Amino acid sequence: MIGPGKAIGILGGGQLGRMFTHAAQSLGYRVHVYEPSGPSPAGAVADRETVAAYGDLSALGEFARSVEVATYEFENIPAEPLEAIAKLVGLHPSPGVLRTCQNRWREKAWLGANGFPHVPYAEALEGDIGAAAAQLGLPCVVKTADFGYDGKGQMRISSQDDLARAAAIFRGRRCVVEKWVDFEREISVICARTASGETRPFPASENIHADHILDISIVPARIAPAVEAEARRLAVEIAGRLGVVGLVAVEMFLARDGRLIVNELAPRPHNSGHWSIDGGETSQFEQHVRAVCGLPLGPAGARNPTVMVNILGDLWARGGAAPGEPNWAAVLSEPRAKLHLYGKPEPRPGRKMGHFTVQGDDLEDTLALARAVKARL
Ligand code: ADP
Ligand code: MG
Repeated sequence: MIGPGKAIGILGGGQLGRMFTHAAQSLGYRVHVYEPSGPSPAGAVADRETVAAYGDLSALGEFARSVEVATYEFENIPAEPLEAIAKLVGLHPSPGVLRTCQNRWREKAWLGANGFPHVPYAEALEGDIGAAAAQLGLPCVVKTADFGYDGKGQMRISSQDDLARAAAIFRGRRCVVEKWVDFEREISVICARTASGETRPFPASENIHADHILDISIVPARIAPAVEAEARRLAVEIAGRLGVVGLVAVEMFLARDGRLIVNELAPRPHNSGHWSIDGGETSQFEQHVRAVCGLPLGPAGARNPTVMVNILGDLWARGGAAPGEPNWAAVLSEPRAKLHLYGKPEPRPGRKMGHFTVQGDDLEDTLALARAVKARL
């Protein structure tokens, strides 16, 4: 066990790293953030920040030697630096887990090989998307195999025209073409797992996306108890089979025939788990700290219905109006709402700037209030 007072390293300085840092520090840990792109949201609150490239082996070595254990909040980290760190200090989840989850081909192949339900897909090399789409049928979606997140590097294809455009856009890139799932709901389960094999899933969150980016998460998800149980079972099994130490988020589609289909895996805290900071018995970030440090896991239940709404950079320039700060009073004056901002200086469209949660006794009423607050922002 790595006890409070010790130093934890985290690769990646975005909002997930920032909220991880808050949680680690409230348990008495020190946090060292490693971020290539410059002073970061996590670095702003951490005990120490190293700004250096992932290829800078001497900076990585110094980082690894300065901490008792290391983790990451970002999936698109090349394999070599991770392996270099793992030689010097415990790194959780392991580089092997990240390798499986960071590439859509490997991830789907892993799901298939381990008997987990996944979306029908075809690999498309050298932009040969037409053949893949013909095999799967339209509509489908093209995704770059690597380095995609928040809907970046994705295009939905519903016509021959789209196909021609996609072929041009994705030419020469390694892609996955997936069948478009006409789902009933989208949900996710985040599961914590310790090195000793203890697992604890959070309740399923129901996720509503806009333009492929998460907009709203709702807990409890509006699904039948048997589906909730099956979703948690899948997440626990995936965590165990992957051998995750830390968190794994399992995104799923609930198909109209009632089946759950795994969309993707993320071996880290997840946007759909932000509700747990205000509405959970233990937040996903605290649970991540507990799991990687070998502390006992906290209870993972929801204290009451909670709705989380993302605040994107788009809000600063609605409908082409003059750019301006959102109306924070709309959230701050609502006693059932809590505002979380990530300290990012520049609001850009699609950029996650913060989120807010609304809690209440009744889920539909809480959701309606969350939507009303969003509209007033
Ligand atoms: P990201 O890495 O950007 O989260 P995802 O593969 O999870 O990529 O896609 C983002 C969102 O786009 C999904 O949560 C879902 O709403 C939609 N989407 C992606 N793939 C499909 C699909 N095959 N069928 C239906 N919707 C999809
Ligand atoms: Mg996703």
